[in-house]
Amino acid sequence: MIGLCDKRYKLDRKIEVEECLKLSINSFYEANLLRDGADGQTLWLNLFGNEIARVDFSINIKPSDNFIQLKYLIKNVNKVSYTVRLITTKCNFSGVRYWFICPAIKNNEPCCKRSGVLYKPYNSKYFACRFCYELTYQSKKFNY
Ligand SMILES: [Zn+2]
Repeated sequence: MIGLCDKRYKLDRKIEVEECLKLSINSFYEANLLRDGADGQTLWLNLFGNEIARVDFSINIKPSDNFIQLKYLIKNVNKVSYTVRLITTKCNFSGVRYWFICPAIKNNEPCCKRSGVLYKPYNSKYFACRFCYELTYQSKKFNY
């Protein structure tokens, strides 16, 4: 079971998507990784090319069940490992499009929203959809 244990952000301010690690289903698709048995590592680098974070992943695409296994360290110490379900929808022309199913539990309810991107604020433990973290976009904060 996965929970969102980091509630402190709610007390001060909303987090922006720009302050989060992002996992995009499109980047897995473009790297041809949405196939059974695919695995690898996603790295995030800062402007100087230094590693900010890394996530190990493995993909399970079976007729019965599709999921991605995520493994990473929090603050270089605590191991986190969980699966995120993947679903498909039919595309207009041909083929299918993959989506993450948000793995978070919020207010004791599983979220289960379909999402193309999952976010993890830097100090949070899990990747979840932007609704679970109540993320805003930087551009929405300015009124021109
Ligand atoms: Zn969610």
